[in-house]
Amino acid sequence: MDETRGYDVAIAGASIAGCTAAILFGRAGLRVALAEKHRSASTAKALCGHSILGGTGPTLRRLGLWDRMVEAGAAVGTPAVRGAAGWMVATGNDLPPTISLRRSRLDPLLRATAAATPGVDLLLGTAVTGLLADGPRVTGLRVRAADAAERVLTARLVVGADGHRSTVARLARATEDVAPNGRFLYWAYYRGVVPRGPGHAQIWQLDEDVVVSTPTDDGLTLLGAFPTKDHLPAFRPDLAGGLEAFLRRLPDGPDLSGPGGSPR
Ligand SMILES: Cc1cc2nc3c(=O)[nH]c(=O)nc-3n(C[C@H](O)[C@H](O)[C@H](O)COP(=O)(O)OP(=O)(O)OC[C@H]3O[C@@H](n4cnc5c(N)ncnc54)[C@H](O)[C@@H]3O)c2cc1C
Repeated sequence: MDETRGYDVAIAGASIAGCTAAILFGRAGLRVALAEKHRSASTAKALCGHSILGGTGPTLRRLGLWDRMVEAGAAVGTPAVRGAAGWMVATGNDLPPTISLRRSRLDPLLRATAAATPGVDLLLGTAVTGLLADGPRVTGLRVRAADAAERVLTARLVVGADGHRSTVARLARATEDVAPNGRFLYWAYYRGVVPRGPGHAQIWQLDEDVVVSTPTDDGLTLLGAFPTKDHLPAFRPDLAGGLEAFLRRLPDGPDLSGPGGSPR
C-alpha cells in the first residue's frame, strides 16, 4: 500500500552529509524526512580513514558535534606533510587542527543528534527506490520500509546524500565525473605508535608514495599506504608486512617498536 507523508525536505541517506543537512534544516524550523536504508542507527561506513580536516571545524562546532566527538575519544592535533623538500607544518591559524574519530563512533553520534533534532524524522530501514517528479522538478522520494511497505515522501526539497553509487543521482540522471585510479589502499590500526616527525596527523607525499598516520580514539593510530598498483604482488602474500616494509622506507617514519606496536 502506498502511504504518503508530506515534508519540507526529504533526504536520502543518514550519514555525514544527510545527518548534517537534516540537523541544520530541522533547526531552521523545517519538517525533515531522513531516510536511511540500514535498520540500525549504529551502522557505520567501514571504508573511511576518518581524519577530518580542520576546515570542517566551524561546521562541527555549529552542529554541537566537536565537543561530543572529543568526549567520545576523538584525537585532535596539528597536521604535518612530508614532501621531497622536508616537513611542512602549519603555524598559528594557517591550518586548523584535524579531528579523528572512527566511523563506528562518529556515525551513531551523528544519527543520534539528527534524531534528537525537533522536526527531523529519522526513518531507519527505509530504502529510496524512486523519485517523484512534477515535470522537471523532483517532488519527493519513493521508499521501501523495513516492513516492505512502499511509501511516498513528498517534499519541497529533495536531497541525495546516499553516497558513492547514489541511487538518487542515478535516478535523477546526474552526470558522473570519473577519474582513473592507479593506486590501492591498505591500512591497519596500531597501538603504541610513536611519531618521529613533527605534527600529530602525518602525511608523506614522496614521488609516487603516499602514506598516512592518523592517531584516533582508543589509543589507536591508523597507518595506511596508497601504493601504485605495481606494488600489489609484493603486498598480497603478507598485507601487514607489506605495509610495514613501506613504513620502514619513510624518512621519519613512525616507530612501531614499542609495546603494542603491531596491528590491532
Ligand atoms: C578509502 C577511503 C578513505 C577515506 N578517508 C577519509 C578521511 O580520512 N577523511 C575524510 O574526511 N573522508 C574520507 N573518506 C571520504 C568519506 O568516507 C566520504 O566523503 C563520506 O563518507 C561521504 O559522506 P556521505 O554522507 O556523502 O556518504 P556516505 O557516508 O557514503 O553515506 C551514504 C548513506 O546513504 C545510505 N544509502 C545509500 N543508498 C541508500 C538508499 N537507496 N536509500 C537510503 N539510504 C541509502 C547509506 O547506507 C549511508 O548511510 C574516505 C573514503 C574512502 C573510500
